[in-house]
Amino acid sequence: MEAVNQTLLREILEQIAHEMSAAPDRGTVATYIPELAKVDPAQFGIAVSLPDGTTLTAGDAATPFSVQSISKVFMLAIALGRLGDQLWHRVGREPSGLAFNSILQLEREKGIPRNPFVNAGAIAVTDAVLAGHQPRDVLGELLRFVRMAAEDDDIHINKAVAASEQATAHRNIALAEFMAAEGNLRNAVALTIGTYVHQCAVEMSCAQLARAGRFLTNAPGAPRLVSAARVRRINALMMMCGHYDGSGEFAYRAGLPGKSGVGGGILAIAPGRASIAVWSPGLNERGNSKLGSAAIEMLVRKTGWSVFG
Ligand code: GLN
Repeated sequence: MEAVNQTLLREILEQIAHEMSAAPDRGTVATYIPELAKVDPAQFGIAVSLPDGTTLTAGDAATPFSVQSISKVFMLAIALGRLGDQLWHRVGREPSGLAFNSILQLEREKGIPRNPFVNAGAIAVTDAVLAGHQPRDVLGELLRFVRMAAEDDDIHINKAVAASEQATAHRNIALAEFMAAEGNLRNAVALTIGTYVHQCAVEMSCAQLARAGRFLTNAPGAPRLVSAARVRRINALMMMCGHYDGSGEFAYRAGLPGKSGVGGGILAIAPGRASIAVWSPGLNERGNSKLGSAAIEMLVRKTGWSVFG
């Protein structure tokens, strides 16, 4: 395959955005968080950020959206920095094969969630970071981390989205209560869930998110926020667990580590090459962006960026 220069990359992104703007079947916007139900499903954005920060975009790539579960990648990086391998006493590293908010597995596995990206696992990770700190300090640390990664201070938490999720967080509260019953929660459920819903309500545009993901490329020139060894491991988890029970399908189609969120965003990493962000609010039956997944598959086909060659 011809090497991908910036002119070609720009053309590819334009083609993808053009194709996606006309797609008739755009999936279904998440409604269980009422604020997210208001988002117009006609939108589509894509951004590719090269290690030096050069960022190519097409479509609605400057529109901020709710990153939701994509925040779990950044919180995991912070948690591993703080606790190291101790974190793995509280959460596993296996794909779940079940929905992101499943309660079933948690009981069978005695309150130790399968991985840090299903809701229960992410709640355990947030709880671990929170121990001994105030929610505002943890959220401040998350924002500092993301802003440093993106080299952009204009990244914020949408309070209306956080309040909307908080008001309907029954399942997440149930997961946290169950972990508390099994001795796998260090803080009051309300404190941990309050922090978690605010973390999920971070907003970024595709351009900002793609820039924020560069530290995961392990490429020379990208911001080095965590060690290279840890970056490799976070990518492995993204590949195996980043799309919940759709992780196998995403790995098969895209061949890249990725993390989705119910806001319709996906962050995908082409190791050594680029960080990719797409956003289209309509979701497939597994809760992953329908057009976003298709767009990344198209991008990888045209660039040859699959990690499998
Ligand atoms: N905040 C959302 C929730 O807990 C995140 C889920 C997601 O993005 N898949 O339900």
